[in-house]
Amino acid sequence: MTRLIFLGPPGAGKGTQAALLAKDCEVPHISTGDILRSAVAAGSELGKKADQYMSAGELVPDDLILDLIQERLSQDDVEKGWLLDGFPRNVPQAEFLQKLLDQLEQPMDFVVNLDVEDAVIVARLLQRGRKDDEESVILTRLEVYRQQTEPLIDFYRNRQQLVSVDGNQTLEAVYADLKRLVME
Ligand code: ADP
Repeated sequence: MTRLIFLGPPGAGKGTQAALLAKDCEVPHISTGDILRSAVAAGSELGKKADQYMSAGELVPDDLILDLIQERLSQDDVEKGWLLDGFPRNVPQAEFLQKLLDQLEQPMDFVVNLDVEDAVIVARLLQRGRKDDEESVILTRLEVYRQQTEPLIDFYRNRQQLVSVDGNQTLEAVYADLKRLVME
């Protein structure tokens, strides 16, 4: 049983690492960013509401995200575990998640913090070239990360649930570290 949360700045490689690890551990990779991008592409109500925030690099309002994650973690395929990528992204989301996991009796293993230097982040994001990877939007996303998401490092550290991995290394080296952690 694997239940992990991935934390880290945009461009840290969370998505890539979480996808690889989810495949190896045979658990669903739950990425709120991917779910939202699908909703935008499908033109659903959620997508229409989320699009403007995502394009600007802002967080989508909590009421939309909390419903989405509650619904996702109540589906059948999470019985074997899950990897959360992109959620939680602020303290209210983390508090909500804690209560939800208690209710669902799905205790998490730990939170993986992918530690990456600023210079590396910006270079990686500019290279990726996704719709929200334009330089001014990148700067907003980094600022949002600093103000709203970074406090989660202390939130989970205080609860002794945080493990850090050096994300400045190559993709393969980061993955080797992750596997070692999870297999321990
Ligand atoms: P990155 O890995 O670059 O941070 P994501 O794919 O995780 O990108 O997220 C892309 C965008 O989706 C975010 O900038 C934000 O607008 C929205 N988003 C994703 N997850 C959340 C969340 N938990 N709360 C609010 N907004 C979110």
